[in-house]
Amino acid sequence: MSHATKAAEFNKDEAKVNWHDKALWYVREKRDKSAHNVQGWEYLRQLGSNIKANVLSNLDEYLVQFEANAKNNGVHVHWASNAEEHNNIINDILSKHNAKKVVKSKSMLTEECHLNPFLESKGIEVVDTDLGERIVQLAQEPPSHIVLPAIHKTKEDVDELFQEHLGTKPSQGNPEYLVGEARKHLRDKFLNADVAITGVNFAVADTGGVVVCTNEGNADMGVHLAKAHIACMGIEKIIPQEKHLGVFLRLLARSATGQPITTYSSHFNKPEDGKEMHIVIVDNGRTEQLSREDFRASLHCIRCGACMNTCPIYRRSGGHSYDYTIPGPIGSILSPGKDLKKHSSLPFASTLCGSCSNVCPVKINIHEQLYKWRQVIVKEQKQPVVKKSILKTAGVVLSKPGLYRAAGKTARFMLKNAPRFMIYNKLNAWGKARDLPEVKGQNFDDWYKKRQKNG
Ligand code: SF4
Repeated sequence: MSHATKAAEFNKDEAKVNWHDKALWYVREKRDKSAHNVQGWEYLRQLGSNIKANVLSNLDEYLVQFEANAKNNGVHVHWASNAEEHNNIINDILSKHNAKKVVKSKSMLTEECHLNPFLESKGIEVVDTDLGERIVQLAQEPPSHIVLPAIHKTKEDVDELFQEHLGTKPSQGNPEYLVGEARKHLRDKFLNADVAITGVNFAVADTGGVVVCTNEGNADMGVHLAKAHIACMGIEKIIPQEKHLGVFLRLLARSATGQPITTYSSHFNKPEDGKEMHIVIVDNGRTEQLSREDFRASLHCIRCGACMNTCPIYRRSGGHSYDYTIPGPIGSILSPGKDLKKHSSLPFASTLCGSCSNVCPVKINIHEQLYKWRQVIVKEQKQPVVKKSILKTAGVVLSKPGLYRAAGKTARFMLKNAPRFMIYNKLNAWGKARDLPEVKGQNFDDWYKKRQKNG
């Protein structure tokens, strides 16, 4: 199903779409205020972008350095070239510990590798401990946003969900009550977990340590209570030195939620006495993306979600309409690299307004890459005949000023005089949900000429 078809489903509930749009715009505004309070914000963005470009150009060296330092710290390091290997490595570690209960803090990589269903098929209970993640897990849905996984759900939705799965009382969506109940439920899971799995926000090459950012402290709680910690990271999570965290931690939290700093920036460098720590370093298509010159900068991404919050298409179509682990503008660049056929509609789910590139903390040229994918897709894939002929005709009309003027005149006449059914019909997708603009008596060209004539 294309993005447009799925978005049409989401758009059926107008009130929810408006609320979703507003909620994300609120986060975008918070990001703006927070960013404007930092002197040299643009310099910081440039610095972040330069560090990431350096990492990608020397990735092999940094990864080897990171591995050596992590091993020196007593950490077990594993390499996975794809999702299957990643899942098998984790399953082997869990088997070694005879682990049947796992707590997991938010990790888009494990979502990407479909780790939960894989482990569940082996009889292992996996509990997502980030509140938003737990909500979508109970609803058996994928996250719809990388930072706010349950942003598509209202508090009333959560109330119903908790009544069904956690046996809570009806509370008309009382957030305090619901959070309190979630805390009790999760505390029990933490206390009984055998192993904790976390994602990784930053992996520091010169120390071999990893940093995990959460607002709920769930990564720390899981890791400190379980007997083993498995941290899963994509190869692009490397940063060269610990001092670079000062750049990225400031950029990440402000861009994600408008906070000056994430509540918990947890540093995991080595296992606690008597415990084990594992790091699984995953490729899963990243090397291939690195080899695509036009798209390699997409690997700068620090997963802040700002491009989603600002995108007018994402805000009004919802994350699930992208049908990919990472939705929104950045997901629309990453997904065609994974499966061009399946995700070919995503680079078109953009107005190319450039707002995503403007907010991106690591200065990824997102809208330009989306445009590049469009060029690749129209060359490689058969396009609908109607679309092709419309664009061909538009190309001819736009390249001949006389024809353009005549077409404009005819269109204005038709819009003014033709019966409504000739304008608003199946062929006019734009007119399905909105009225076309009111036609003025003259166009700009006529107005300008007249004005020149009259001095
Ligand atoms: S592309 Fe940029 S704005 Fe979007 S999630 Fe990644 S870092 Fe954030």
